[in-house]
Amino acid sequence: MWTLQAPQPVQHFHHPVHAASQRHATVAFRPSTTTDNNQLIQSLCKKGSFKQAIQVLSHEPNPTQRTYELLILSCARQKSLSDGLAVHNCLVDDGFDQDSFLATKLINMYYELDSIDYARQVFDKINNRTIFVWNAFFRALTLSGQGEEVLDLYRRMNRIGIPSDRFTYTYVLKACVASESLASLLQKGKEIHAHILRHGYETHVHIMTTLVDVYARFGRVSNAACVFNDMPVKNVVSWSAMIACYAKNGMPFEALELFRDMMLETTDLLPNSVTMVSVLQACASLAALEQGKLIHGYILRKGLDSILPVISALVTMYARCGNLELGRRVFDQIDKRDVVLWNSMISSYGIHGFGREAIQTFKQMIREQISPSLISFVSVLGACSHAGLVEEGKLLFNSMVKEHRIYPSVEHYACMVDLLGRANQLDEAAKVIEDMRIEPGRKVWGSLLGACRIHGNVEFAERASQRLFELEPMNAGNYVLLADIYAETKMWDEVKRVKKLLEARGLQKVSGCSLIEVGRKIYSFTSVDEFNPQIEQVHALLLKLSAEMKEKGYVPETKAVLYDLDTQEKERMVLGHSEKLAVAFGLINSSRGDTIRITKNLRLCEDCHSVTKFISKFTNREILVRDVNRFHHFKDGVCSCGDYW
Ligand code: ZN
Ligand code: ZN
Repeated sequence: MWTLQAPQPVQHFHHPVHAASQRHATVAFRPSTTTDNNQLIQSLCKKGSFKQAIQVLSHEPNPTQRTYELLILSCARQKSLSDGLAVHNCLVDDGFDQDSFLATKLINMYYELDSIDYARQVFDKINNRTIFVWNAFFRALTLSGQGEEVLDLYRRMNRIGIPSDRFTYTYVLKACVASESLASLLQKGKEIHAHILRHGYETHVHIMTTLVDVYARFGRVSNAACVFNDMPVKNVVSWSAMIACYAKNGMPFEALELFRDMMLETTDLLPNSVTMVSVLQACASLAALEQGKLIHGYILRKGLDSILPVISALVTMYARCGNLELGRRVFDQIDKRDVVLWNSMISSYGIHGFGREAIQTFKQMIREQISPSLISFVSVLGACSHAGLVEEGKLLFNSMVKEHRIYPSVEHYACMVDLLGRANQLDEAAKVIEDMRIEPGRKVWGSLLGACRIHGNVEFAERASQRLFELEPMNAGNYVLLADIYAETKMWDEVKRVKKLLEARGLQKVSGCSLIEVGRKIYSFTSVDEFNPQIEQVHALLLKLSAEMKEKGYVPETKAVLYDLDTQEKERMVLGHSEKLAVAFGLINSSRGDTIRITKNLRLCEDCHSVTKFISKFTNREILVRDVNRFHHFKDGVCSCGDYW
């Protein structure tokens, strides 16, 4: 049937692409009847001989819908926008421009080709829009991160009375999750939730799982849990969504518990990499090293240990649980590392105070041709800050634009202000803020206020806190910091004034809480914890230690106490700080040679820091404390932070 004959006149000629390829086509192919040509194009598409298929198209007077469908799919697969546009042109000329089936295929193709504007043209031009066309466009917009447009269109669709189907609900909910701006989106999410219930879609596992994601995104954990608990059928994605919801919203205990339930209840469901990443994040938050190791073993057994996001989460988990070496070992076992994995390693060094190692790792990454991301710079600048590497930090900051064409974001400026501020270069830190190209925002002012707390600088502290009170009036931490700074300089009237502000706004100081893992169980301590059965033993041990330390010259540092009380009262208060209780509990419940690991939700106070140094020497124990900023390794009476934190 395909012989080299003289070419027949070409009837369809729509695009320069075809003009160029036509000569070639006349040599290679001799088209005969329409049916044959359609079949030929289709089989060429299926075989992957895409260019030849396009050539035959130029000879075909009557391509069918199926032929166009296969051509469109091929253009998407070949990632060829020019061919896609050519096929689109032919299709319009052939009168398929109002074919809603092909419109959905075109929209999908343009999404695959990163050309959402062309997808929008297809959508706008079609009059008889079926639900499939709407859904295809919703999907394309959502996946391209244009969630707001989806929600606007969804409203329009409801107004003109087109009923949603299960795909519509999934995409519009995903649009809520993918949207950049959070304002009013929660409300929209709730409206969609109501639509779903009204139309009886509450048994659809995909829809309800996406709804869990929506509530998780807005921190509505109880709403998410309600949806999850009411689901008649749950799959691995639903379980993972709820575990992630807990892990990301500061409820790591609940995340681990739900993971345990998942393993018990659903023997046929295997956790996937998404589940494992959330579970590892939960272990990291709790500094639950032993549990983390068990999870690592499970990951190895299930063969999930070559998935990069899991590896990154493992590195971070080990580092945040205080075991940098194990994290490094996992990192070293991987040959093909992505930027996320490199960032995990860099920030792991950072929180342990190994600034030089962090910089080295950063440089090695660049040598290995991996382009640094915004987060790489946040990680490496943060590491410089923890280690007091001011000059190195400045060089790296300047290299962002000069060498890598990355413009600093608020996070990077905040790192610089933190770095300079900690090093007591507050004037220079203020200068960085003045020269910023973008609005400083709460992170930058927060860094400045934090630095003022370390160096007792009232003038800059007042300037920073004034902006912070405007930007986040309900954040109690800022008021407490300012009051701390006043208390340190004994400005008691000012302390009272700030405390009044705090009370007037109905805010409460975040209370300190420390966690310790003993025998694979996590114990939590607050300064008023009376529930622990061993609490009396703990207090007694602390009193004994404090008496011994005083003999050796220890003077309690009570400036963290915000009340104008007598010295004895203040001493009693700092001795009750949660991290001291946790250290004592650790001493009682572990054997010699064991490292004591503690996590604290706030910054370590001066007194706890010096007491822990003393205890590490007295009892000859290594004590590891992770406070809200970084790690402190206490050993032989010294701390790895060099008293710089
Ligand atoms: Zn303390
Ligand atoms: Zn320290």
